[in-house]
Amino acid sequence: MAGRLAGKVALISGGARGQGEVEGRLFAQEGAKVVLGDILVDLGKKVAADIQKQGGQATFVPLDVTKEAEWQSAVETTVQTYGKLDILVNNAGIFRTEGVEATSLELWNQVIAVNQTGVWLGMKYAVPAIRKAGGGSIINISSGAGIIGTGMAAAYHSTKGAVRILTKTAAIEYAKDHIRINSVHPGVVDTEMVRGLMQSEGMHALLAAHPLGRVGTSEDIAYGVLYLASDESSFVTGSELVIDGGFTAH
Ligand code: NAD
Repeated sequence: MAGRLAGKVALISGGARGQGEVEGRLFAQEGAKVVLGDILVDLGKKVAADIQKQGGQATFVPLDVTKEAEWQSAVETTVQTYGKLDILVNNAGIFRTEGVEATSLELWNQVIAVNQTGVWLGMKYAVPAIRKAGGGSIINISSGAGIIGTGMAAAYHSTKGAVRILTKTAAIEYAKDHIRINSVHPGVVDTEMVRGLMQSEGMHALLAAHPLGRVGTSEDIAYGVLYLASDESSFVTGSELVIDGGFTAH
């Protein structure tokens, strides 16, 4: 299949819904063979089947990004199914609004496990396979919350800031292997993650802080991720792609 990702194999965590799902569909349209990993097994299988129905190539693997063994088997399945791995999108994430005092140690550890440890584990197990393929691209989904504070969501901000700088140090570490590693920083995006919160007062203030006057769509983010995944960005590594309607420009 022709396209901007023709011949490439991509693994996307959190690929069952939201931004990860849209990235999976777009990548397949652009010629990639796509592996979707998620804890939402039924939904993930449905998305993979739907991509196939549209003529794309996709498969689903059960993946809890906090579990080392599941990352190992997700990468193994990818290589067994499609022969190699070129692209990893570390997209899975969870959002919690609690501030510093309201955050319990349990909540803190949970958010760190998914959003931060999950990204590190993904790179740890994908890098050897991508190196074997002769190089490739890793895209870590951070957030505007990894660049500026909002006075809430203490654990979430911490993880997204960590992902930003982990991306930069890993980009330097693996440049010699021709593995480019970049972070993406969405503003508020209309997905399940924030839909329930859209009506809250804090959210109204956040939305008002988007100079373009609207929230983002998963497509807005997916096109940026596609660019970083493709060879069009072959001189881009260690960078942070902000896609936020101007939210962090203040
Ligand atoms: P979403 O909740 O729709 O999707 C997140 C996906 O991650 C879901 O499919 C979920 O099942 C999966 N997931 C959660 N925990 C997991 C785990 N332990 N293992 C594997 N998969 C897991 O939200 P989204 O907006 O599509 O989020 C995608 C990414 O974008 C996240 O990293 C999020 O932090 C980031 N982000 C979102 C927004 C926003 O406003 N929606 C803004 C900035 C950044």
